[in-house]
Amino acid sequence: MTLAVHPTKIVCIGRNYAAHARELGNEVPAEPLIFLKPPSALLPPGGTIVRPPQSQRVDFEGELAIVIGEAGSVLGYTCANDVTARDLQKKDVQFTRAKSFDTFLPLGPCIDTDVDPNDLPIVTTVNGTVKQDGRTSQMVFNCAFIVHYISSIMTLLPGDVILTGTPAGVGPLAAGDLVEVSIEGIGLLRNVVA
Ligand code: ZN
Repeated sequence: MTLAVHPTKIVCIGRNYAAHARELGNEVPAEPLIFLKPPSALLPPGGTIVRPPQSQRVDFEGELAIVIGEAGSVLGYTCANDVTARDLQKKDVQFTRAKSFDTFLPLGPCIDTDVDPNDLPIVTTVNGTVKQDGRTSQMVFNCAFIVHYISSIMTLLPGDVILTGTPAGVGPLAAGDLVEVSIEGIGLLRNVVA
């Protein structure tokens, strides 16, 4: 299925891989840590990630994304890059500014409607070099639990997107970089950086 989503919201899970929580000096949360990205941050496959002048450190975060269907069900899965202005995330008390710049949510390339999301290899490369090499089985909270948890807080509408957290290995992006998030069985999300 081609990716044509119009989410009312994008809900993200922070620190959902223990090794990534540790690499940034954080504890693994006892219950899912959630934050939002705005739909205006969406970027299609092949689009250009624009590093904003306010940040000196823009990181990639390869993630499995859940796309919501009718009545809060799961329609399918795709690849996402939760691009983050790491310096602004550290400076601000909460994540909104760091996570919300235009182009900070590459998503795609397609929706896989029948893959089992619970043990998929997820790899992020920059200019062909492997930076993140994880498996979705390393998530602290799995996809079914995350959907249930978020649904107990807010109504999930068709086209809404959930980002399930990033494995260890996050790092910075520079102008001219080619960043690729691939999830076996789903596809490859490729973007360039300006
Ligand atoms: Zn993330």
